[in-house]
Amino acid sequence: MKSLKQRNMPENTYNTIIVGGGIAGLTSAAYLARAGQKVLLIEKNKECGGLVNSFTRDGFHFDAGVRALEDAGIILPMLKDLGIQLEVVKSKVSLGIENEILHIENFESLFEYRELLKKLFPECDGEIDEVVKIIRKIMKHMDVLYGIENPVFKDLRRDRTFIFKKLLPWLPRFIFTVGKINRMNKPVEEYLKTIVKNPSLRDIISQHFFKNTPTFFALSYFSLYLDYFYPKGGIGRLPEALKNKIIESGREIKTETKIIKVMADKCLVKDQNNIIYQYDNLIWAADLKTLYKITEAEGLLPQIKTIFEESKNNMLKNRGGDSVFSLFLEVDEPLESFRKIANGHFFYTPSKLGLGETHRGELNNMLSNFKRIEKEQILTWLDKFTRLNTYEISIPGLKDPELVPPGKTGLIISFLAEYDLFNKIKEAGWLDEFIKELENRILSVISDSVYPVLKNKIIARFSFTPLSIENRVGSSEGAITGWSFQESMPVINKIQNSGRSILTPIPSIYQAGQWAYSPAGAPMSILTGKLAAAKALKQIRKYKNR
Ligand SMILES: Cc1cc2nc3c(=O)[nH]c(=O)nc-3n(C[C@H](O)[C@H](O)[C@H](O)COP(=O)(O)OP(=O)(O)OC[C@H]3O[C@@H](n4cnc5c(N)ncnc54)[C@H](O)[C@@H]3O)c2cc1C
Repeated sequence: MKSLKQRNMPENTYNTIIVGGGIAGLTSAAYLARAGQKVLLIEKNKECGGLVNSFTRDGFHFDAGVRALEDAGIILPMLKDLGIQLEVVKSKVSLGIENEILHIENFESLFEYRELLKKLFPECDGEIDEVVKIIRKIMKHMDVLYGIENPVFKDLRRDRTFIFKKLLPWLPRFIFTVGKINRMNKPVEEYLKTIVKNPSLRDIISQHFFKNTPTFFALSYFSLYLDYFYPKGGIGRLPEALKNKIIESGREIKTETKIIKVMADKCLVKDQNNIIYQYDNLIWAADLKTLYKITEAEGLLPQIKTIFEESKNNMLKNRGGDSVFSLFLEVDEPLESFRKIANGHFFYTPSKLGLGETHRGELNNMLSNFKRIEKEQILTWLDKFTRLNTYEISIPGLKDPELVPPGKTGLIISFLAEYDLFNKIKEAGWLDEFIKELENRILSVISDSVYPVLKNKIIARFSFTPLSIENRVGSSEGAITGWSFQESMPVINKIQNSGRSILTPIPSIYQAGQWAYSPAGAPMSILTGKLAAAKALKQIRKYKNR
């Protein structure tokens, strides 16, 4: 620790440097700026936001990452705490399977969902009752978990009313709930096998989750659907508001700057132009495998170096979780035609058969024998995959009509996708052709089922693959919510330990964002961003007072 006592800071020297201008890094920077720290946020892209971002094309607004935000007792309290005004609307969700479509309005919609499933799977009556009973139980736990504004975003020294009226009565219920949550850690697919015999029904309930999602996280989706909101003007308004807050505080954001080396013993980072920056604390709010790959640990104390090397091995042998494929459509058809069918955030499964082994055994088999597989076989697999999949369809104009040219509609149709498939096809030299084949199949499945209005009305179309995500945000395996779910996680995955999720083996380096805690997502990225900022601040104050 070379420079903690250094107060008159020379050029390119900062109390805290934050690498990664996604939602986690922006949160850290906004809090450190508010605390009066000399802070620098470094982002490799031209725009901040990472996987929380929007763009406009031909007058159509699209969200490139997350389609709507779950508050989770985190996002709105964070905005309030930072004094940021953001106009938001509810992002209503619809669920559809074949011709059955349900608009989720409130808690009672869970029982309509039960009836919808019974209509499609009349032979599974008792099993559906059982699943819905469990979802109901989980919803009660979620009410506790997100029942108060997250205390991390409250001023606990001053807000006595919050402490005595909300926090203290809530704590025992929270501790009880955490115990219950931890007992529901089994992958949802395995858990459902214990209550549901029909494999199609199991798929319909769970196939739009990441592989091996912990049961609690997966079956809490009904609560999350009720919690979704959308910033007026698009998702990108959230990172923009944080960025403006940082700039208003007179702090620096360096975009188009990529950190390529961390010299941990000297507290230095280097960018692609060989410019060196010095920090007291570093918050790494980007891909964690990258941090370990580019960090020189040579001069560190031997015991720290040993733990660092162990951690590095552990991180590098793990994989990022599922990625996503998104098809963007500019459509010459008014919003009304779509409003009649479903809400602007829509989970739609065209066939109740379910994916079965299509996206697991069959895909794995294809990937491990890739060199021997003919293109035709892959395309036949693609037919089945697109017919049986679940799609997340977002229509920004149904949440905010200002987001499309008059009389037109923009759609984003996406689904979970395997990075390795796209990568191998790219290596085989036919990625563009594969993308076109995929787009054609999605369009034919969706226009033959839920949106016949799409036929002959598409003005333009384009898509982002897992490889685009990897290129854009530097996310290993194109992951969108950090690590893939496996038996042993390389990061903290228990809510009661979340305070430690931001620690790395190197005392002056903290981690935040989708890779710091599992399961992750936008709210958890924000929470870890705030926790990392608080820790960095505490460390700086500790040294200042020496
Ligand atoms: C289609 C889609 C749907 C989603 N749906 C949901 C949802 O419903 N609910 C939910 O909670 N979450 C959802 N997510 C996930 C959520 O958006 C992310 O988990 C979250 O935004 C991650 O934020 P982050 O700041 O941790 O990381 P990122 O957004 O990955 O930001 C990291 C930043 O670091 C920058 N960077 C990387 N390397 C460097 C470097 N060397 N130097 C400088 N800068 C660097 C990147 O450019 C990027 O801006 C979704 C994501 C997608 C794509």
